[in-house]
Parts: sequence; C-alpha cells; structure tokens
Amino acid sequence: MAIRPILTVPNPILKKVSQPVDEVTDETRALMDDMLATMYAAPGIGLAAIQIGVPLNVIVMDLAREGEPPAPKYFINPEILEDVEELKPYNEGCLSVPDVYEDIDRPERVKLTYLDYNGERVTEWCEGLYAVCIQHEMDHLKGVVFIDYLSRLKRERAVKKVVKAEKLKAAG
Ligand code: ZN
Repeated sequence: MAIRPILTVPNPILKKVSQPVDEVTDETRALMDDMLATMYAAPGIGLAAIQIGVPLNVIVMDLAREGEPPAPKYFINPEILEDVEELKPYNEGCLSVPDVYEDIDRPERVKLTYLDYNGERVTEWCEGLYAVCIQHEMDHLKGVVFIDYLSRLKRERAVKKVVKAEKLKAAG
C-alpha cells in the first residue's frame, strides 16, 4: 500500500470525466488499497480515484466515527438508480479543497448500485452521511467538485485559499 499525493483545486485533472472499470482485478484492488491508505493518512472519509490522478470510476469511504473500528467501503462503477425529492443541506468538505466547508443541498436518500472489493454487485438505499458522501464522491467521477455548486465569488475565494495554502506548504 502506498500513500499517493492528493490533487487539489484548480488542478485541471479534477475536471476529467472518469471511465468505468471493465473488470475488477488485483490491479483494481491495489488501486483501492492505495486510495484507502491515502484517505486515512489525510485524514478523510471519502476519496475518488481521480483525486490521486486516476480517471476510473472507483471510490473508497469509511464513515466510522472516532473510537469505532475501521469500516472501509469500496465502490466500483457506482450508479444512482433513484433518489428522493427531499433535499437536505450538509456542511461538506473535500480533500481536494482543504479547509473549505460549505453547505450543499442534495437528495437525502439515494438508491445505489455498485461493485464491491470482490467485484460483487451491491444495490442498496443510502441515507444520512452515507448518502451525502457517495453523491459528493460520485460528482468527482463526473469532474465536479463541491465548490462548483457555490456562487462564482465563493468558489474563487475557496480556490485562492487553497492555492495560497499549497504555496506555503511547498515553501515550508
Ligand atoms: Zn471531494
């Protein structure tokens, strides 16, 4: 397992549309292992492959709270089959936009289908933080970052903040 660098805005790779995985292989699992290690090290609760520069429809997640045992989840080729009309705001953050948090409205429940770590099909309804996180991560697969939902002013302010912090990090 290797920790890979996480791309941050405004890196144009984050705007790329990711492609489906043809077959779940050991290579796919090695990618997911690296993604999980990278996410835990950050630390974060979700990561899409494109955030480490790999344009494939692969997501990892762990929503365990502090003190709970790790509960990694792996999603290959996730698709939302249904959602509900009710929207719920959640104060979202993103490893590609460090230290920026904004309320984003999303459907509060979604019916999701995906392949798991072993390539088995799973179909289930998600709600709460799980629903928020999977929709946020699936946006990454379409080249969308959560700040794209904000006003231009707020978005530009967020990007500036990240660029400045990255410069300081590179210098220091
Ligand atoms: Zn994100």
